[in-house]
Amino acid sequence: MILSVSLAADAGRDPEQVGSVSCDICECRTRSRFRKNGFRILECRRCGYAFAHPRIAARDVAALYQNLDPAARSPDQHARYAKYVGDEEEPRRVYRALGRLGISFGRVLDVGAGLGKYTAFFQAKKFEVLPLEVDPFCIRRIQERTGLIAAAEPFEDWNPRSARYDVILMSQVLEHCRDPRLWLRKAHSLLRPNGILFVGVPNFDSLLVAILGARDGHICPPSHLNYFSRKCLSILAQQEGLRIERCFDWSYVTFTFCCDIMATRLFRLTAARWLGGTALYAFFRAADAVHRGRYLYAFLRRDENGV
Ligand SMILES: [Zn+2]
Repeated sequence: MILSVSLAADAGRDPEQVGSVSCDICECRTRSRFRKNGFRILECRRCGYAFAHPRIAARDVAALYQNLDPAARSPDQHARYAKYVGDEEEPRRVYRALGRLGISFGRVLDVGAGLGKYTAFFQAKKFEVLPLEVDPFCIRRIQERTGLIAAAEPFEDWNPRSARYDVILMSQVLEHCRDPRLWLRKAHSLLRPNGILFVGVPNFDSLLVAILGARDGHICPPSHLNYFSRKCLSILAQQEGLRIERCFDWSYVTFTFCCDIMATRLFRLTAARWLGGTALYAFFRAADAVHRGRYLYAFLRRDENGV
């Protein structure tokens, strides 16, 4: 991904004064956790919410997703995308969780629909789906795949008129937006009573982040501007009239994937590859079990007694 971002927004702020920057969720003091790509990742000392500093302007965030040149994506990236698109396991898990929460039909808004994985799955399950996507390459792919024309506006600027939704999907998008509070507030206003907002985000409290630190692939400002743990996501949701009905960790890896990683990175012998893959897979399963997995999958119910 080629990123060209003007970082003029907070350029006047002395980078050594980052300790004075307060948390956007609980207003507590922050500490500098990582440095990467010219940014610091500041983490709240109380709720654990982390964010890229200095903040970048909204227009620069929008520019990140308008300037993507498909020709600049490497063949490897194309192959990974194709594999990703073909994988229905993630939307299937979300669909099943929604069913257990009492939603098996209705209107779905897919915010940041990407290549249309969720849109296609929920369309096949007879939901009425509206994808929202700003990347022109993704918009073309969604139309090819589902026949649906995505609304091509940033979520914060989109005017839905009177529409209300049973489900709003935000899969791997909340970490990209400039103001997650604004997004949750808008989602609350767009949900029907007792509707569900699904949020899938990288887990900043994961074992992988604890081990790899800034080398973890999800620590990637300015693409990822926000970093969530279960705790801070719950606090932010509650502040905006949403309550977490269900939240689970899933590291999004398969046994075959773990063996492939070992094959390409470390081992050439089949037995060593299998043993290494088994150990890596067990690591991720254990991380999920103790709520330190790579991703959080949270289902937030519009709380009629709240905001
Ligand atoms: Zn905080």
